[in-house]
Amino acid sequence: MSTEKMTIEVLPETVIGRIAAGEAIERPASVVKELIENAIDAGASAVQVEVEAGGARLLRVSDNGAGIRRQEIQLAFKRHATSKLRSADDLQGLTTLGFRGEALASIAAVSRATILTRHRDEPMGVTLRLQGGAVEHERPAGAPAGTVVTIENLFFNTPARLKFLKSEATEKRHIHWTAARYAMAYPQIAFALKQDGRERFRSSGGGQLADVLAKVFGLKEAKCMVAVEAVEARRPGRPRIAVAGFVSLPSLSRASRDRIILFVNGRAIQDPALSHALTQAYEGLLPAGAFPFAVLLLTMPPDFVDVNVHPTKAEVRFRDAQLVFVALQRAVREVLLAAADAAPAPDPWTGGAFSDVYVDYQKAPPQWPRRPADDLFDDAGLDETPEAGGPPSRPRTLPVLRVLGQVGAAYIIAEGPAGLYLVDQNAAHERVLFQKLCDESANGGIEGAQLAESQTVLLSPEDSDLLAQVENLLTHLSFEIERFGPNSYVIRRRPTLLAGLQAAEFMPRLLEILRRSARTPADAAAALAAVAALRRGQILEQEAMQSLIAQLERCPEPFVSPGGRKTFIHLSREDLAEEFRRR
Ligand code: ADP
Ligand code: MG
Repeated sequence: MSTEKMTIEVLPETVIGRIAAGEAIERPASVVKELIENAIDAGASAVQVEVEAGGARLLRVSDNGAGIRRQEIQLAFKRHATSKLRSADDLQGLTTLGFRGEALASIAAVSRATILTRHRDEPMGVTLRLQGGAVEHERPAGAPAGTVVTIENLFFNTPARLKFLKSEATEKRHIHWTAARYAMAYPQIAFALKQDGRERFRSSGGGQLADVLAKVFGLKEAKCMVAVEAVEARRPGRPRIAVAGFVSLPSLSRASRDRIILFVNGRAIQDPALSHALTQAYEGLLPAGAFPFAVLLLTMPPDFVDVNVHPTKAEVRFRDAQLVFVALQRAVREVLLAAADAAPAPDPWTGGAFSDVYVDYQKAPPQWPRRPADDLFDDAGLDETPEAGGPPSRPRTLPVLRVLGQVGAAYIIAEGPAGLYLVDQNAAHERVLFQKLCDESANGGIEGAQLAESQTVLLSPEDSDLLAQVENLLTHLSFEIERFGPNSYVIRRRPTLLAGLQAAEFMPRLLEILRRSARTPADAAAALAAVAALRRGQILEQEAMQSLIAQLERCPEPFVSPGGRKTFIHLSREDLAEEFRRR
């Protein structure tokens, strides 16, 4: 929709009823936001914001956009008068920031408003002044193409609101961030902000977000940020979601989320779930309570996002939020991992800081060793990176560890902020698989698959008896077993964890464990985990080890295997120091 071509009209009642209306003007920064959005909608390439006394005395936004036609100037200040929306159907595919036709009316109602504008097709401009929403005068005026809106004495007639304004410094800060946010979302527009006669901020309009970033966050901070540029692969029926911008490396973080700046289709939004999806991409990279810097612009088809849900338009609703979270998280994770891989390895012990520690388990899917001889399991059972937003899967109970190597094809040596960890790969993997099975049972059942070719096993008479006793448990594990002859069975379906294994190999082992302890479905799951787990003697690649450690880290009880064996030995720095002091 091209705003410049459309005339301003009052929306029909039916459309007004469909708009999530409400008072959008809460504070001076809301005025700045609305006026900047109008300037952007008008196609401006330069926007200037001037503020006096935190906006209470004066707010002025000037642009070089299309301007307003003289005959429409008064209409622009009428409630529900807009050039951006005609019918309720248009709400589905909005490409403009504004659409309610309310901002100018709401702002003018609580201030003294002056507009000076010239439409670029008209020879002469016009100026209009309103006081508390009532027109004081309208005059022709010479002006360059564009619009200057001046708001004085904001909230002069709403003392309650005036009283609730925060300190001047706070309002200034809000205004600063409002302007800065738009400058970052629209690097091709030159923004300037003046507060009390002093220039606070200026962007060149050169089109490079990196340049604006350095202006907003500072050069040092900007240098700790990396570019994100990803388009979620187009699949039939899926919308194209692009994620672009910058995110901080783990070396740069803050104690609050206030440097997380998100835009959806050019609109600044505050979406806790989306910002959570972002912080999740940093899991294992930032300690609890630390949050990244991020400026991310998400672009998706307009009909995929409903902006008409909140009066200040700060919240949006996605047709499929999960898809958006995944796109964002994947894009960010990719660059963080690439950066972590490129970074020099931290100096063990002296490093220590979290920023030096990284875990790359988010790389999907983890590559496990696949050698014919010890291919005991299928990737399907291990690729369990929780993908998207939503609440955090589990609290971390094991610190972030960095894998240093493997000893004796049985133990993984890892380093964490608190010292050295020696991880038993077998016990750890049992714990991980057990947790996975528990999660599956809780979510509709343990994952199984029909065998393309059913397998026949011949069991000992004792195993055969036991099998009959534990039939229910085996069904719980997603087995489908049929008796075929005396002590002989056909396996038609088996848990996915056992993919790649032959029944003749896993059945006796499983039954052996079940014989020792097979009362509950949890026992059965533990037995299955034991059968499917990595064994000692398997050489693991770095990635596989890191992935195992990361999965262990996510388990609620990472310290012991389901059978009660230790998964790791921890040697704290103090332990080591103590150990080496001994004679
Ligand atoms: P909305 O932006 O939702 O349409 P507003 O009250 O903010 O509602 O603005 C009303 C109308 O005034 C807009 O639709 C637009 O046509 C016109 N307008 C407002 N500000 C500008 C501007 N800076 N440049 C050009 N036109 C503007
Ligand atoms: Mg508007």
